[in-house]
Amino acid sequence: MKRILLLGGTGDALRLARSLGPSHIYSLAGLGRVPVDLMCQVRVGGFGGAQGLAAFIAAECIDLLVDATHPYAAQISTNAASAAEQAGIPCWALRRPAWQAGEGDDWHEVSGWAELTEAMNDFRRPFFTLGREPLAHLHEIPAHQHWTVRCLDAQAPTERAEIIGDRGPFSLEAERQLFERLNSDVLISKNSGGDSTEPKLQVARERGLPVLFLRRPMLPAVTREFLRRDDLLTALMALGVLTGVSTG
Ligand code: NAP
Repeated sequence: MKRILLLGGTGDALRLARSLGPSHIYSLAGLGRVPVDLMCQVRVGGFGGAQGLAAFIAAECIDLLVDATHPYAAQISTNAASAAEQAGIPCWALRRPAWQAGEGDDWHEVSGWAELTEAMNDFRRPFFTLGREPLAHLHEIPAHQHWTVRCLDAQAPTERAEIIGDRGPFSLEAERQLFERLNSDVLISKNSGGDSTEPKLQVARERGLPVLFLRRPMLPAVTREFLRRDDLLTALMALGVLTGVSTG
């Protein structure tokens, strides 16, 4: 029976982990919530780079590495591809397609924080849905701006910024109410893809707001790439490693 190491941190990964039996391992960086109700083993924390991960794979007799981390988690994905090669096992990856602009969207891509700062200079009330990164820049808020930052960690508001601690999925109606309250004039986001955080894009469209996306990082080539969670589930099922399929 093949033994799987699943690298997670996303909702998709958690749903896959729910289908794994007790011989498999689900690994998390430890930034978010750690589930306590899984049948598979759960480990938390970094491996110490690609070499550390390769050593873990060897020590735990892993047969297949499955990378279901976030599309912006480029470091762990690079480490995964390299470690699997070092250990001589296949690496499969779930690579969620990016959101695509439709009619009425005013989307722009920027390559990093410096470019983003320049692109948002003309706005007064940016709403950041990028994760924690803006928290390190709160001291740089220009005099004409007030920021709203939504990330996993709530913080007390300041005169210049509101920090909302929340995690998806977010409903369309809740996003509509939030945008109405914030009166934001630009949305700043990763292009994460998937359903759970997509409603904000619809609300931006409805309100005629521009969206500034941080460009997706390059990810390494892997043995097999899946664009949809269900396709990865089907492939894992074909290996006979799933206890039961949970797509909910
Ligand atoms: P990262 O920059 O690719 O990873 C940094 C380090 O964290 C890795 O080198 C590894 O440490 C450890 N790590 C990451 N995922 C791990 C896992 N599943 N199991 C064990 N160790 C893991 O990724 P990140 O720091 O998680 O996030 C980068 C960006 O992606 C952020 O902007 C974040 O908001 C976004 N994001 C990531 C996730 C995710 O699934 N990780 C989820 C939501 C958003 P070692 O080198 O020591 O092994």
